[in-house]
Amino acid sequence: MSIIVQKYGGTSVGSPDRIKNVAKRVIAYKEKGHEMVVTVSAMSGETDRLLGLAKQMSDEPDERELDMMVSTGEQVSIALLAMALKSMGHEAISMNSSQAGIYTDSSHTKAKIEKIHSEKIEKELKKGKIVIVAGFQGIDENGNITTLGRGGSDTTAVAVAAAIKADKCEIYTDVDGIYTADPRFVKNAQKLKYITYDEMLELAALGAKVMHSRSIEFAKKYNVALEVRSSFSDAEGTIILKEYEGMEKVVVAGITCKKDEAKVSIVGLPDKPGIAALVFGKMAEANINVNMITQSSLSQKSGTNNISFTFPLGDFKKAQSVIETIKKELSPEEIVFDDHIAIVSVVGVGMKTNVGVASGLFAVLGKNAINIQMIGTSEIKISVVIDKNRADDSVALLHEHFKLDKLSQ
Ligand code: ADP
Ligand code: ASP
Ligand code: MG
Repeated sequence: MSIIVQKYGGTSVGSPDRIKNVAKRVIAYKEKGHEMVVTVSAMSGETDRLLGLAKQMSDEPDERELDMMVSTGEQVSIALLAMALKSMGHEAISMNSSQAGIYTDSSHTKAKIEKIHSEKIEKELKKGKIVIVAGFQGIDENGNITTLGRGGSDTTAVAVAAAIKADKCEIYTDVDGIYTADPRFVKNAQKLKYITYDEMLELAALGAKVMHSRSIEFAKKYNVALEVRSSFSDAEGTIILKEYEGMEKVVVAGITCKKDEAKVSIVGLPDKPGIAALVFGKMAEANINVNMITQSSLSQKSGTNNISFTFPLGDFKKAQSVIETIKKELSPEEIVFDDHIAIVSVVGVGMKTNVGVASGLFAVLGKNAINIQMIGTSEIKISVVIDKNRADDSVALLHEHFKLDKLSQ
């Protein structure tokens, strides 16, 4: 007998029939003797619908109120699932974040889970009930409802799994695993049997929305055994784990692209200590997450340098006003915003020990007249900023170049 946490995403609970289907899956596990905790998202389309309502009230809705409203989507689906389970003869209880003890910081719309007081969940589990926890939402120290950012229900599931020391956390979604690229756009993408936490973390942070990146951080930190599977089939999924045999042979495990970023270049800043600290300090104060950064000193003689960075497209207006204050303080020569970029990334732990990935990537883009605006690397990934119009074909071209359609593990 194990403790299992399952998470069902929006499509999996997208209609009353699908919720009944989820209930049957959960019951099958329960009847095998497992203790079950289930996290669910809002029914598909519901979060967008709610956000649309908010936009009708204000261009920039108050974020506390936004969380108050958008968190209701998950409350509907937990209650519906509990009703379905009960009507099928099983003891179940739904819990919102406050009842489940999920505490976050106060950054509305992108809150981070800080601790989980899981006693209530555990108490109900001990009574033999199936516990259903609302995904995506948390509560801050003042009792305000927060949300974890789009796709955040994955993080709820993994964090709960870590807190109650579950034996396994299964993420059920509308694809049957993690693929070498988004299977919706790359038709010959291959399903991976395994992927490491580090690779998945990079892919998720760089646009593969199949997993919320924070969920992988939790899984890695607490060593949660994670599997991504389909709620519509019994196909084997993808295991996300620390390491597996032969992982170094997989030079590139996945390719992804992120289309919801914007870029700003600040040209002709004073070339002296403290400038970067000032620029990024102001972005941090405004709670804007900066992603890729490049800095180039033109020449020592000129005494100036340029800083370019990317940040979430959704923060465009906020970033413009932050940069306006920087402009007043530092008088740069020029500021250029670009809201039409994409970040394309190739990721693989095998890159550590294999050469030629970067040169191959640049050659493919060059040959196809795709201009590279920025480059960023880590030990296991290479990212480039390009024009958004070329994002999808870049992913397809790179997928082909790295022969990911024939990847074997
Ligand atoms: P859920 O609502 O279940 O959380 P999401 O829509 O958040 O589902 O995530 C699943 C989607 O992620 C898939 O439908 C797929 O289009 C997309 N996706 C992006 N990259 C990948 C990838 N590398 N492997 C699998 N799916 C991916
Ligand atoms: N319902 C939220 C969203 O649509 C959270 C989630 O689905 O994970 O982003
Ligand atoms: Mg999701």
